[in-house]
Amino acid sequence: MEIKFCGSVSPYPKGIDSCPSILVSSGDFKILLDCGAGSTRNLDMLRDLRNLVAFISHYHPDHYSDLTSLLYSSYTNHNLGYLNERIKIYLPDEKCLEHDYLSDPTRENYAEFLEYNALSSIAHGDMQITFAKNPHPRDTYGMRIDSKDGSVVYSADTGFKGNSVERLAKDADILICEASYLRGFNRKNDTHLFAHEAALIAKHANVSDLYLFHTYPELDKNDYLNEAREVFPQTHICEDGMKLDLRRV
Ligand SMILES: [Zn+2]
Ligand SMILES: [Zn+2]
Repeated sequence: MEIKFCGSVSPYPKGIDSCPSILVSSGDFKILLDCGAGSTRNLDMLRDLRNLVAFISHYHPDHYSDLTSLLYSSYTNHNLGYLNERIKIYLPDEKCLEHDYLSDPTRENYAEFLEYNALSSIAHGDMQITFAKNPHPRDTYGMRIDSKDGSVVYSADTGFKGNSVERLAKDADILICEASYLRGFNRKNDTHLFAHEAALIAKHANVSDLYLFHTYPELDKNDYLNEAREVFPQTHICEDGMKLDLRRV
C-alpha cells in the first residue's frame, strides 16, 4: 500500500496546504479518504481516477468541498476518453441537504453514488475498509484499511471523550489522526483533539506510527509535533504531497 497526503490542514487551505484528503493505493486500486478544499490539485487525475473509490467521512465542508472538482474531472476525463469506468463515491447515510447536494443527479459527473455507515465493510482490490462512528457534531466515521501490506487508520474528526479511534486503530501500522488544538487553547466543546490527545490515542492503540493532520493553517506544524512527541515519540506530521510506502515503514 502507498499513502499520499493530498491535504492536511483545516478549516481552509493556505499556501501549499490543502484541506484533508488521503489517497491510499494498492496496485491499480485507489481509495480516497475525504476530499477537502484544494486537495484535488495533488491528485494525478489521469491515473488516480481509474479504479477510484472515495469515502467522505462527514458533511463538514473542510472534508468534502473539493468533491465537486473531483466529480467534474470524472465527467471531463470520461468525455475525453481517459476514464472508462465510473468512480465510486461513498457518502455517510445521514439524510441531509449536503447528501442531496453532493449526489445531485443533474450535476455533470461520471460517478456512482453509494452510502455507508458504521456497520459497512467494503472491499476494493485487496483492501478492506471498515468504519467506526466518532463523537462529532455530524455523523462522522473513522476508517480503517487492511491489506496484505498492513493497516492504515484515518481518524477523520473526533472529540476525545468516547472516541472510537483507539479501538479502530488497535495494533495498526499507521494512524493518521486529527490534531486541531495545542495546549493552552480554550476548547469550548470536545469535538476535536489536542495534539497530546491524538498521541494518547496512538499510545493506547499500540500503533507503530502516528501522523497528525487537520492542523490549523496559521500555526506551526512543529508545535503540534512537539506536543504529541512528549506522549508518543513515533509521531510525524502530514505534509501535502508526502508519500509513504507501507511496506517500508
Ligand atoms: Zn468536522
Ligand atoms: Zn474537519
